[in-house]
Amino acid sequence: MTMPRLSREIMPGVHRISLPLPGKQPGPVNAYVFVGDTVTLLDTGTSKTVGLLGAAMGELGLSFSDIDRIVVTHGHLDHYGGAKKIKEASRYDIELVAAEEDIRGVEQGSTVPNSSMTYFLKTMGVPKIFPPLMIALNYVFARMADNCPVDAVMEEGQKLDMGRHEATVVRTPGHTRGSVCLYLEKDGVVFSGDHVLEHITPNALPMLEDWPGLPERKSQMEFYDSIDRIEALDPAVLHTGHGKRIRDLASVIDMYRKAFTARQKRVLSSIRPKDESVFTIARRLFPNIELNLRFPMEMYLAISEVYTHLQVLEEEGEVCLALEKNRLRVFRH
Ligand SMILES: [Zn+2]
Repeated sequence: MTMPRLSREIMPGVHRISLPLPGKQPGPVNAYVFVGDTVTLLDTGTSKTVGLLGAAMGELGLSFSDIDRIVVTHGHLDHYGGAKKIKEASRYDIELVAAEEDIRGVEQGSTVPNSSMTYFLKTMGVPKIFPPLMIALNYVFARMADNCPVDAVMEEGQKLDMGRHEATVVRTPGHTRGSVCLYLEKDGVVFSGDHVLEHITPNALPMLEDWPGLPERKSQMEFYDSIDRIEALDPAVLHTGHGKRIRDLASVIDMYRKAFTARQKRVLSSIRPKDESVFTIARRLFPNIELNLRFPMEMYLAISEVYTHLQVLEEEGEVCLALEKNRLRVFRH
């Protein structure tokens, strides 16, 4: 009996390796190996899947010692979590490359300080039990990744040698502050990390790194701008951080825009004239979140989604957000 192959050549000299993650969404994470005069690994999977990654590279006749450079699309643990073990397993130095604004995630395990997370959730009006649950959950997640020092920073417009291809770094903040896409101009191909996914609308998580206080940056708006940037490149194919490749970007972006417009309308129409917090609005939109004490992540994502949409609605003059005694009050104009 032959074992199914773990890697798949998606373009000349580029191999996709799909690595498992717990939970249904966003599904297995894709790592990509670019082979040529040099070998580059784009995203690593978690520290738990390093063995599987090594086996997949073995199919290609490669070991970790053949890797010259690891590039991470953003500082989430499923994308960088294996870097430290890979570096340790190599006989040679491997350069780890990340964008400046996501270095904290790669080197410290979370882009967000605990104090900022706690302040954010309290200000949103969640029940007292949630902030410590969320912090505890972050510790559980952190066990899927090893923190790793970043050796080099990649900048907007920088050219990267990726085996037989050349990639340009395109800044696409939104999902995280430092998210990047890699654009292979000659091939009309984009490696999109979690910025564009085929099967789900990515989360533009609140940029809680703007601590102390609430985030100044509006992740949802930055995400919209970053979508415009990728749309303008008009790539023929996108290889994503999770799920299948995208051949029809226009229809995926259309799906995003419709989903976000609908969600924004629902957020606006959920605001009652009386005293409102982000939590009371989120509870109206997602009635189950309160019961899901076992799933604080769902609460966090619901709160995040409402908050980032409210930032857009505030910018558009539809709502007013006022901080009173460490509680964010929401008023409709
Ligand atoms: Zn991510």
